[in-house]
Amino acid sequence: MKWTKAEMNIISQYTRTMKSVKDICFELDASGFMRTYKSVTRKIESMGWSRPTDVTNTGLLPRILIFDIETTPMPVWVWDFGKQYVPHTNIVRDKSGGQKFWYVLSWAAKWLYDENILSDVLTPEEAVARDDKRILDSVWKLIDEADIVIAHNGDRFDIRKLNARFILNDMNPPSPYKSIDTLKIARKEFAFSSNKQDFLTKTFGLSEKLKTEFQLWIDCMNGNKERLAEMLKYNKGDVVGLEQLYLKLRPYIKNHPNLGVLMDTSVCPSCGSKNIKPSDATYFTSSNEFPVYRCGGCHSPFIRSKSSISTGSTELRSIAR
Ligand SMILES: [Zn+2]
Repeated sequence: MKWTKAEMNIISQYTRTMKSVKDICFELDASGFMRTYKSVTRKIESMGWSRPTDVTNTGLLPRILIFDIETTPMPVWVWDFGKQYVPHTNIVRDKSGGQKFWYVLSWAAKWLYDENILSDVLTPEEAVARDDKRILDSVWKLIDEADIVIAHNGDRFDIRKLNARFILNDMNPPSPYKSIDTLKIARKEFAFSSNKQDFLTKTFGLSEKLKTEFQLWIDCMNGNKERLAEMLKYNKGDVVGLEQLYLKLRPYIKNHPNLGVLMDTSVCPSCGSKNIKPSDATYFTSSNEFPVYRCGGCHSPFIRSKSSISTGSTELRSIAR
């Protein structure tokens, strides 16, 4: 039987809280849904939500940050509507002659498997002054701590937008990190009709984006306190959906940053679980042959490289593209 939206809402708490499968079963039951423990476990597994409990509490798991930012548009002078090229000289200037460049309104983030959503938003005064330094500092600290960052269109948008604001605010680059861009993965590995986060989360029955309209951005730039709070709520909602989307796509990610390298041990390269099983499959390249393994936690397939002179700390790696 197909899982309803209401049921998905209840079971998705598994990604947002520390509730156990048992807690969730009780809740489903209390809401009048008939699901067995086994079927709930199976659904959670199929969504990629099962946590690698053998490593999550050991402090060994790399720091994986899921994040999303909201930026303002820029005011520009145009002669007409319609598709056109707007030269940078047409940007509206403030009274002192400074360009009204775009800036960051808010950010929201979540460490993978952690129940807390971290976030920051401009105060009304900061929004009017176009001053995002304080919230850039707070997001910089998180990215600096992260081994891997995950964002939808992060490689083109979020990371580059942040870098532009960092350097314009005379900030140093954060410590190096790996990036996983869920938009790139959606484009590369699947032929969905749209690769927008909203479309994908809807399609998978995951936590959906909240509705917004353009006026929200205008009100935020004008320093409207309630609207800034609304922006943050929207921003936080996106991060919850993004974590669920990443977990759903994860087994299909080729060249996932190898968690085994970061953990210095032989674990599933995608999720860090030690629960790895050999399969009957073999993977061939033009010059070599590799045994295929599958993770018992996240179900990603991966290979064991044969090379005994491998300098890496793990011989397990995802299948190269
Ligand atoms: Zn795994």
